[in-house]
Amino acid sequence: MTDIAPDSAPSPRAVIVGAGPSGFYAADQLLGAGFEVDVLDALPTPFGLVRAGVAPDHPKIKSVTRVYEKTAKKDGFRFFGGIRLGEHIRRAELLERYDVVLYALGTSDDNRLGIPGEDRPGVHGATQFVAWYNGHPDAADYDYNLDVERAVVIGNGNVAMDVARMLVLHPDELAPTDTADHAIEVLAASKVTEVVLLGRRGPAQAAFTNPELRELADLERAGVEVDITDLELDAASAKWLQEEADPTAQRNVEVLREYAAASPKDASHRIVLKFLRSPVEILGEGQDGAVTGIKVVRNEIQAGEGGRLSAVATGDEEVIECGLVLRSIGYRGRPVDDVPFDDRRGLIRNDGGRVCDASGDAHSGEYVVGWIKRGPSGVIGTNKKDAADTVAKIVEDRDAGKLNAPAITDPDAIAAFYAERAPDAVTWAGWQAIDAHEKASGEPHGRPRVKLVRLADLFERSRATTAG
Ligand code: NAP
Repeated sequence: MTDIAPDSAPSPRAVIVGAGPSGFYAADQLLGAGFEVDVLDALPTPFGLVRAGVAPDHPKIKSVTRVYEKTAKKDGFRFFGGIRLGEHIRRAELLERYDVVLYALGTSDDNRLGIPGEDRPGVHGATQFVAWYNGHPDAADYDYNLDVERAVVIGNGNVAMDVARMLVLHPDELAPTDTADHAIEVLAASKVTEVVLLGRRGPAQAAFTNPELRELADLERAGVEVDITDLELDAASAKWLQEEADPTAQRNVEVLREYAAASPKDASHRIVLKFLRSPVEILGEGQDGAVTGIKVVRNEIQAGEGGRLSAVATGDEEVIECGLVLRSIGYRGRPVDDVPFDDRRGLIRNDGGRVCDASGDAHSGEYVVGWIKRGPSGVIGTNKKDAADTVAKIVEDRDAGKLNAPAITDPDAIAAFYAERAPDAVTWAGWQAIDAHEKASGEPHGRPRVKLVRLADLFERSRATTAG
């Protein structure tokens, strides 16, 4: 970013709502473009899904936070954690104080299946389950009954892979991770020995990626089972795989074939991959009783609109008995305050990153990045390019004099405003105090950290910085 504002003019000020990857990439790029940047987060802790989403047994992925820590050290950066848009502050109040309001809120709700029985006890969204094992404060009190033998995970993405793996990890595999202590305890006592991963389309259309599929072979106490007949490709899929598919899909099918051909591993637990089946009803005792099974219909692949290979029900049904169902079929955003929202897509309404209304007219000074802009897709690094696209528009609008014109510009007055609205608000130094405490608690046990999962504990620990 070479476009630095002239020295004579005060730096324009941006507020980024959401301290996850997309918020941090945008912060870094805006600082580089000469903006001063305040980053807010509803939680006292930064890093969004890197802290509360990435599976705890994937510590390398989490090390990306070092990049964000460098951003936080830069002049012009401030962090205010524990401030929730729509609760402590309003959208209009941000527009009174900043040239740029950038939403980086992520997508915090999970999609629903819309089938009978979905609200039975024992049916959960993967979003909540992931938040629970990762120690998100909002999920600390969730209750999962793992006193069941078979779990079904619906969906064929990497999140489905994460939750399936977490359900069968050996306690020794969990022990050196930063999994929340409450989850380690419940998972250690779990009776789940089989996890069925259910894909509505075929193996060629699976959304998970090669490393996630491959690593199933390395699980300490779990084997992988795939029925070879599930891997027989229909003509359309075979043609697509040969002529159009990317290497990921081709490798997925190869690895699945290797799994199907391998002799069964002598293991106490197993992950069973089933394809071409859609859930049609979650079964249970009576109207509201806990889940006892899932009725699925067999699908076949047909080329649909735009050439997409879609799952079409055959009418051939079967029941998979189970005591736990985790729905992992993608995320959607949650509307916040009165920020324009596209309810159909579950995203902030925007035109390439500029927030706009239903008629497409851009709102001056309001922008969006990350999953709440484009939907929940890609890996963490995808958000860097995504942020660059939005920041380029912000710079373009600044140069054209089209940013918002705030009435209040004094940074100290803005900090005082936050302190008044959220007296517990956590600064970067406060987060560093939390971080140091969590790491120190983990160190004697060979863990990267022991997470604090209660808001009161996080706020209290953040104050250790001022107490000395
Ligand atoms: P995803 O990759 O979009 O996968 C969603 C899955 O749900 C697809 O298999 C989809 O099938 C299926 N699905 C959707 N609606 C369904 C329905 N009504 N019934 C049955 N199945 C349905 O989403 P995700 O797993 O939530 O992951 C989100 C993003 O985070 C992805 O980009 C993912 O790669 C990324 N992520 C990465 C990692 C990692 O790098 N290790 C870990 C976790 C997440 P169709 O294809 O048929 O629609």
